[in-house]
Amino acid sequence: MDADVSTEPRAPTGTHDVLWPESWRWEELTASFARQVERANYGLVVSPMFEYAEIFRRGIGVDSDVVGKEMYEFADRDGRVIALRPEGTASVARAFIERRPTIPWKAWYVTPAFRHERPQAGRYRQHHQLGVEVLGSADPELDIEVVTIAADFIEGTGVRKVELKVNSMGDATCRPAYVDRLREDLEKRKALLCDDHRGRIGGNPLRILDCKTAECQAAIEGVPKLVDSLCDPCAAHFRRFREGLDELGVSYTLDFRLVRGFDYYSRTTFEFTAHSIEAAQNAVGGGGRYDGLVEMMGGPPTPGIGFAIGIERLLLAASAEGTMHEHPPPPDAFVVDVVGGGAARGIVTELRRAGFRVDRAFDGRSMKAQMKLADRSGADVALIVGPEEQASGVVTVRTLRRHGGQCTVPRSGVVAEMHRRGHDGDE
Ligand code: AMP
Repeated sequence: MDADVSTEPRAPTGTHDVLWPESWRWEELTASFARQVERANYGLVVSPMFEYAEIFRRGIGVDSDVVGKEMYEFADRDGRVIALRPEGTASVARAFIERRPTIPWKAWYVTPAFRHERPQAGRYRQHHQLGVEVLGSADPELDIEVVTIAADFIEGTGVRKVELKVNSMGDATCRPAYVDRLREDLEKRKALLCDDHRGRIGGNPLRILDCKTAECQAAIEGVPKLVDSLCDPCAAHFRRFREGLDELGVSYTLDFRLVRGFDYYSRTTFEFTAHSIEAAQNAVGGGGRYDGLVEMMGGPPTPGIGFAIGIERLLLAASAEGTMHEHPPPPDAFVVDVVGGGAARGIVTELRRAGFRVDRAFDGRSMKAQMKLADRSGADVALIVGPEEQASGVVTVRTLRRHGGQCTVPRSGVVAEMHRRGHDGDE
């Protein structure tokens, strides 16, 4: 169905524009994430927003909701089946296989993710993720590092009502036998499961543990837990992971239902749940170990672990808790030019090159209109050039915020005057 072009254009359902100053929070979040992960020696990876659909089918699994029901797929003009990235990990694993960076490869990213979900508050068809992936080490110390980075980042935003849940999904040695036992057990409870899952016990029964419906949640009370049937190496890994978190003071709860929706997870899984936002959309981030993923995608056996945090969700939680409400800094100065605009051009350029935040008016507006704009911009001072100033080679500096009055400075002394007034600049 084509969009109706007779009305005003609208963003596609489930997508949204983020305009300034709201986008300031996005800048802050991304910058603080970059600072946090780069302190731990993670490097930015930028990879395509779309891949051959096969990458996600093999990596995430065709019976996952994300691939089976929600992926944006289309044939491009060459007839290749392309998919918009529904999450970040499979692309990073593909890039690893193709480029073979030295291991352990510690990468971070910020990316949109596309899922054809039913839109509601906190659930979009394009959302945005901040994430890390580490490829090439199975050391539980890495699980501790990755979870601690995520926990510290969330804490740094001021969001406090967040619960870290952890679990272990075991590995190819211990999980299959557990899955069989779980399937048998669920068969007995079949009638109690939700409509969607009643007929799906034969598929991946782990998904039922993760089902959010009241029916499934009640039905799984008392089912066997995977943490109780881990093989020795998986149990040792999980123990070390938890001891590490305890030692660092990172608090968490054990949640046997936390199996996460993708096929590629093994051993450690974790999720951050925000209690300040609506229950159905309260996962602000999550991740885990995926030791089989790279091999499953056709690369050499390479363990890996990562997480992704949803920017929109974290900002929802921040708003609900009243944190991250800083406003973007206003300009240091606003240049008012009523002599044709050329004077403003010179002054703003000189000040910007010196590191100041400076704005100006356009379209030859009146003095009154420009002063109004200067006021509205929140700038500390207006730098005014009228015919008299121009004739005597000076600029009037009028303080806007405080009761500061005004003075004149030589045109050549504007940068020095701004420094004198204590604005940052780069000097
Ligand atoms: P996932 O890859 O499903 O673990 O998602 C990682 C994080 O992205 C989640 O914890 C959410 O914070 C966020 N997220 C996932 N799906 C959506 C969505 N449809 N809309 C908004 N945020 C989402």
